[in-house]
Amino acid sequence: MDDASYCATPVPAPAPVGLEADAGPPFAECVLCREPTEYPESARGATLCPVCAWQEAGRSACSG
Ligand SMILES: [Zn+2]
Repeated sequence: MDDASYCATPVPAPAPVGLEADAGPPFAECVLCREPTEYPESARGATLCPVCAWQEAGRSACSG
């Protein structure tokens, strides 16, 4: 009897050692809250995170 092999779940491939999952390309900081944005550090001009960008858009739209 070898039910174990019949019902065995596939073993996931081991994660490569030495690679950090969170290590990505360097992102520019939001100029307002200093949270990482979706823009690369090489992005020119003021970089805003999605939250601040949304707030800025709403502010400019409602100004006046
Ligand atoms: Zn921000």
